[in-house]
Amino acid sequence: MISEIQQRYQAVRARITQAALQASRNPDDVQLLAVSKTFAAEKVREVAALGQRDFGENYVQEGVDKIAVLKDVPSLVWHCIGPLQSNKTRPVAEHFDWVHSVDRLKIAQRLSEQRPADLPPLNICLQVNIDGGSTKAGVSPTDALALAQAVSALPRLVLRGLMTIPDPLESFDAQVAVHMQAKRLFDDLHASLGLPQFDTLSMGMSADLEAAVQAGSTMVRVGTAVFGGR
Ligand SMILES: *Cc1c(COP(=O)(O)O)cnc(C)c1O
Repeated sequence: MISEIQQRYQAVRARITQAALQASRNPDDVQLLAVSKTFAAEKVREVAALGQRDFGENYVQEGVDKIAVLKDVPSLVWHCIGPLQSNKTRPVAEHFDWVHSVDRLKIAQRLSEQRPADLPPLNICLQVNIDGGSTKAGVSPTDALALAQAVSALPRLVLRGLMTIPDPLESFDAQVAVHMQAKRLFDDLHASLGLPQFDTLSMGMSADLEAAVQAGSTMVRVGTAVFGGR
C-alpha cells in the first residue's frame, strides 16, 4: 500500500518530468523544493524517506524548530523562502543552507556577517518583483543587477540566482509569459555577472509549475501538491 503522501509526491515528480520533456529539457535540470511550511516535522520525515532532500520554510522559528527535530535525517538541505526582517537574520544564517527571499543589501550584509565560520557559505537567490505590484516584496528588475553585484561581493554568501512569486494567473500562456520575463532577466544577469555558480531560477509552485518549467525554471517550490491542503 502506498501512502497518500507518497502518491502525491510521485504525482508531483511525474508532473515535473512531463513538463521538462514537453519543453525539450532534461528533467534532472529541474529540482523539486518541497515547501513544508505549516506541516509537522513528521510529514517532512515521511517525504524525506521517499528520497526528497530539499525543503522550504517560510517562517524562521518554525523552520529552525523543524531543522532541530530532523537533525538525525542525513543530508537534508533547508531553504528559507519567506520574507525576512533584519532582526530575524541570525537564526537563518546559523541554520539554513539557502535563502531565496533576499531583496535588499542590508539583509544580505547581515546574513554574511552572521554566517558561522564553520559552515559553508550561505546560498542566496534574489527575490525579484517580476510583475511589478508596488506593495510586493522583491527587488525591481531594474535594480536587480546592482543588488546582484553587491551581494556577490559579500564573503560568506554565494549568489546562486533569482526567485520570483508572480501573482496567480489562470491561463497557461499568461503564466509562461510572466515566467519568461524572469528567465530573460536571469539570462541577462548571468551574462553580466559572469558567475558560473549563478545557476538557479527558483520559480513555479503547485498551480503553475508546468509553465515555470516551460519558461526555464531550475527549481520549483511545491507545497500543497506534495503535502496536501494547508
Ligand atoms: C507557500 C509557498 C510556496 C508553495 O506554494 P504551494 O501553492 O503550496 O505549492 C512556494 N513559494 C513560496 C515563497 C511560498 O510561500
